[in-house]
Order: sequence, then structure tokens, then C-alpha cells
Amino acid sequence: MASIQLNNIVKRFGSFVGVENMSLDIADEEFLVLLGPSGCGKTTTMRMIAGLEHPTGGQIVIGGEVVNEIDARDRDVAMVFQGYALYPNMSIYDNIRFPLRMRKVPADQHDRLIRRAAEMVELGAFLDRKPGALSGGQRQRAALARAVVREPQVFLMDEPLSNLDAKLRASMRVQIKHMQRQLKVTTVYVTHDQIEAMTLADRIVIMNRGIIQQVGTPDEIYSDPANTFVAGFIGSPPMNLLAGEARDGIFRSEGIEVPCPRTVTGSVTLGIRPEDCTVGGGHLQGMVYGVEPTGDITYLTVQTGKRAVEIKAARDFRAPIDTPISIGFDLSRLYFFSENGERIRR
Ligand code: ATP
Repeated sequence: MASIQLNNIVKRFGSFVGVENMSLDIADEEFLVLLGPSGCGKTTTMRMIAGLEHPTGGQIVIGGEVVNEIDARDRDVAMVFQGYALYPNMSIYDNIRFPLRMRKVPADQHDRLIRRAAEMVELGAFLDRKPGALSGGQRQRAALARAVVREPQVFLMDEPLSNLDAKLRASMRVQIKHMQRQLKVTTVYVTHDQIEAMTLADRIVIMNRGIIQQVGTPDEIYSDPANTFVAGFIGSPPMNLLAGEARDGIFRSEGIEVPCPRTVTGSVTLGIRPEDCTVGGGHLQGMVYGVEPTGDITYLTVQTGKRAVEIKAARDFRAPIDTPISIGFDLSRLYFFSENGERIRR
């Protein structure tokens, strides 16, 4: 069993707080993704779990054991980093063997374990090559094979796909998830790419400025955001966030008028996702600012007052810029947030 608990973890760098009072329960076999903008504390959190960084306060528990005072090399975790360096003079076979030697796994088991790990990432035919004779994606897969060869209690992956091109990233994503499901190893994965987070995670932890904003399944994070930070971070394009005034069951803002629950009053922010807006309908009046056909849908930007509202329109939608347009909102999919950004629950 390798569940992980972070209990009130703090990491300060001088007077700067990198991670603030973080508590998190990661289940055995779970695939947990830490997601957030640059500098939010993802890597620091990961490095504390690995033992490469010492927390200023709090407790880290892996597999029921407090590991704060245990060295990185004695924690049973395997790490894969962005651009993870393979030894250039060793064959892929010997690169994958390296952790087995380090861990003093009996030599008669090496060949079987190396070949199994290589097969898992479809590198069985490349074991004799040196890293220089592999493509970027193959090298990244070799790094993965090296991490999984000895079945650690925990995998830690820090943006392992970020130096690969889009197509390779997509195929590696599927392979990583498949491998994690096969091996059933608790995994913590750091990324700032929301598609990676949504597709890989059992649960996502959204961080900002060292503080957890929300923990939930990808569906919960997308359809039930806790605050404007999460709402505006997830989705492509993200949720439209429109400040205005609510009174007597009506929300008003420049060019916008929609019904709202009577419990929502005062200065609030309306949230509506681009796919929950339709052309025609009369909740928003504005001007066409931009039309971007992509093949399967058309991105439409509507200007109302000084603001731009993003809409996912039908694939055949076209309109000249600067023409008046009316937009309707799916009223069952409106979100309201208070002035401090917290979601107003009905
Ligand atoms: P990125 O996506 O850019 O890698 P991140 O979310 O992983 O960002 P961290 O690397 O965890 O961010 O850093 C969190 C914050 O702590 C940042 O503001 C960073 O500048 C700061 N920080 C990290 N390491 C140190 C250090 N050794 N000394 C001082 N500040 C640090």
C-alpha cells in the first residue's frame, strides 16, 4: 500500500512562501495531477515528496510511514523529469538496468525486468542503441522504462512530456496512463497543461501561489469550479467571467441581462462557458470582433463594452467583423461568484 499524506506542509524560501499549509490525501494506486501556472509551487511539492527538498513545516507520510527524515534515495519513489538525462555512453538496455544495480536487485532478474519495462513502452527493438540514436519521444520512453523497471511504491513525474511535439505528447499521454493502470503504482504528475491534467488524472489539484484552490475529479473541476481562479484556468478558451450587478433576480452588466437566483445580489461575477453560449437568444448584445473557423467548430469573439466574450459557434458560422450580434446563454449553466472570487452556491 502506498498512499501519500501531506499534513500541513509548508515550504519557505527565506521570507517567500513557496507552498502554504498544504494538506492532501493521495490514495493508493491513484493518479494525481498537480496543475497550476508557473511558480505556483507544483515542483516544490513534488520535490518534497521525493525528498529532494525539506519542508519547513508539516509531515509527509508515504505508505503509512513518516518520511520527513528519510533520504531521497531511501524513499521508494521513482522520478521522471522533463528532458530526463539518459547516460549517453550506455545502451538503452544498460540505462534501464541502472536503477536495478543501484538498488542491488539480484542480477539473474535483470534481463527479465529490463525487457518487460522496454516492452511496456514499445522499445523492445531498441535496447542495443545509444540514446543519441533515438528520437526525442523514444528517449522519453526510455526514461519512463528506467523509472518503472523496479516497480517503486510511487512514481513522481514532473512535466515529462513538455519537450515533445504535440502529436508525440498525445500518444505518450495514452501510454503513460495505460502503464500506470497496468502497474497500479500511485502517481503524482506535475503539469501546467490542462489537457494533460484532464486526460490523465483520477483527481486534479489546482494550485495558485502555493495554495490549493480546489481538489476534484476532472469532471468536478470543470463543471463545479470553486472560484474564479479555477473557472478561468480550466477550459479552452476558459469560462467567460463578466463582472456586474445582481438585484431582484436579474444580473445586469454592459450589454448583458440575464435572470439569476434571488439569493445572488450586489456586485458579482457571472461565469458562462463558451460552449454554453449560442448565436441568437438575446442575453448579450455586442459586436462581432473575430471569427476563427477551425474545421469542427468556429471560435467567435464578441465585444460588449470593453470586454471580449468567447463563444464556440457552429462549424459553419460566419459573420463579418463589427456587425451587431445577439448571444443567448444556457440559463441552466450560469455560475455566479462573489466579489472575492468565491463561488456563490444556490
Ligand atoms: P513551473 O511550472 O514554472 O515549474 P512550479 O509551480 O513548479 O512552476 P515551483 O518550482 O514549485 O513552481 O516554485 C514555487 C515558487 O517558489 C516560485 O515562485 C519559485 O520562484 C520559488 N522557489 C522555488 N525554489 C526556490 C529556491 N530554491 N529559492 C527561492 N525561491 C524558490
